[in-house]
Amino acid sequence: MCGIVAYVGNKDVGPVLIEGLKRLEYRGYDSSGICIAGKNGLFIRKAAGRISVLESILDEDKTIPASHVGMAHTRWATHGAPTECNAHPHLDDKKRIAIVHNGIIENYSAIRQFLTAKGHTFVSDTDTESLAGLIGHFYEGDLAKAVQLALHEIRGTYGLAVMSASEPEVLVVARRGSPLIIGVGKDEYIVASDAAAVVEHTTQVIYLNDNEMAVITPKGFRTMTIDDVPVTKDVTAVEFSLEQIELGGYQHFMLKEIFEQPEAIANCLRGRVDRHEGRVVLGGIAQYSRDIVRARRIIITACGTAWHAGLVGEFLFEELAKIPTEVEYASEFRYRNPIVEDGTIVIAISQSGETADTLAALREAKDRGALSLGVVNVVGSTIARETDAGVYLHVGPEVGVASTKAFCGQIVVEVLLALSIARRKYMSQTVLQEFLTALDRIPEQMRHILEQSELIRQVTTQYVKRENWLFLGRGFNYPVALEGALKLKEISYIHAEGLPAAEMKHGPIALINPGMPAVFIATRGSQYEKLLGNIQEVKARGGKIIAVASEGDDHITKVADHVFTVPDTIEPLQPLLTVLPLQLLAYHAAMARGCNVDKPRNLAKSVTVE
Ligand code: GLU
Repeated sequence: MCGIVAYVGNKDVGPVLIEGLKRLEYRGYDSSGICIAGKNGLFIRKAAGRISVLESILDEDKTIPASHVGMAHTRWATHGAPTECNAHPHLDDKKRIAIVHNGIIENYSAIRQFLTAKGHTFVSDTDTESLAGLIGHFYEGDLAKAVQLALHEIRGTYGLAVMSASEPEVLVVARRGSPLIIGVGKDEYIVASDAAAVVEHTTQVIYLNDNEMAVITPKGFRTMTIDDVPVTKDVTAVEFSLEQIELGGYQHFMLKEIFEQPEAIANCLRGRVDRHEGRVVLGGIAQYSRDIVRARRIIITACGTAWHAGLVGEFLFEELAKIPTEVEYASEFRYRNPIVEDGTIVIAISQSGETADTLAALREAKDRGALSLGVVNVVGSTIARETDAGVYLHVGPEVGVASTKAFCGQIVVEVLLALSIARRKYMSQTVLQEFLTALDRIPEQMRHILEQSELIRQVTTQYVKRENWLFLGRGFNYPVALEGALKLKEISYIHAEGLPAAEMKHGPIALINPGMPAVFIATRGSQYEKLLGNIQEVKARGGKIIAVASEGDDHITKVADHVFTVPDTIEPLQPLLTVLPLQLLAYHAAMARGCNVDKPRNLAKSVTVE
């Protein structure tokens, strides 16, 4: 998910690689490493933490070979903590083959078992090392061939670069699902996961497609599919500024991350849904699955957006897994002497895994004997380390301060967790299959919703001078209403309240005056009729209705002033779709008001203070 830089050319490779890694820093990472082809084999150095740590190790090392071929990596850990040992490059057990890899090898444990049975040993916890081992297993003096054979055996995603100690002038690169481009300079080639690391050398690039690879030497390069069918690639010119490249053409990280959600959710689901067997596979909690299925009570603790995802979780665990569930603000839970009985599971949700309040709540719960599970994005973060077990989001680094893709990732993990419990208790295979099929469709449905961005911008712009907004939803969409209001507050500084729609008449209805925008999440579902009643209550008082409704709902178009549509899905999965228009609404409101979207005032990305 993070960065690769590799070089074959005429410059001293060490500084080129370090400069390249720095160019990719914005992508987020937790460790880094470098491999240089030397006369005496592969020179490898790795470091946890910032690239500057790796750089100072290299500065002091007198053994760096003078070389023109090498590769480097910034890791954003998915499998195994962000330690020096887990940092890339990884080697096969004979230490002949080195690989840097972005992405996830889904069937890594089967490969590890296969190789272990043949006597291979592994030193890291990563999925990547299994691929290093497999390439080594197939290697008979032709690196490209060994890479092809190995890639045939793996499931998952990769952008990768591979080197062999026996072929020091050869660099093999390949991609599937993780970007990789090749800069073609004068007598030099620079490979990177994005153009940011290439443009200072050359603007001429080749974009590898999925299932394509290249073999690069100082004499030139060949491109082919991973089935060894030669492909001729066009060399095109990159015309972006560095900043634009980092943002992938988007104006802000928040917008980029909103639009990344289809891919992020596909990554979050990757390897966790066994379609053939109709099963949910959550390796991170397997050890505790008996305790989890038998749980008598679940307490979800979180803050902010993660707390909203937790509210969706409450509905999911009660409705699907039939386990009584409460959601607690972490800051309250830690101080209110909570009752934690036998059979209680505490689930801590945090994007960064470092949220101070959530961490303190988790420690409180553990002290009281609860089994603790973490739902976090950042691998190896404190919450991930301190919980008994957990499930990572795998949605990639989130840079924008206002959380977007992590929210959807948190819900997907909760859905998977609830389904895996439900299937072992009450849920039939047929119903589980329906959920798995519906989950599979979510990324495509998200893409479709995002196409309305321009419409959402036009509508939102009409109301950005209004300083008070309401967000209303019921059932599974009530937490989405809260999240919609929070997004708007966070980045546009408009005051917004999110409420369960029926609560409005118990007080907040007094706020409604002519022209006040009220956003209703009014998708088809069990409470649709009731929600229509709530819409009428606002309309009767002159409020303006912006509805997020199901595609093909002709009735709502007559009642609402503006409609954003979402495709149909199973009701418990609706939040994954209905939140998207609200994220875009907040973004466009902030833009129209001239706010700094990625750095909203007073907010920090990772809240590590109480
Ligand atoms: N899955 C690999 C790991 O955890 C690569 C992660 C990345 O894309 O940086 O080591």
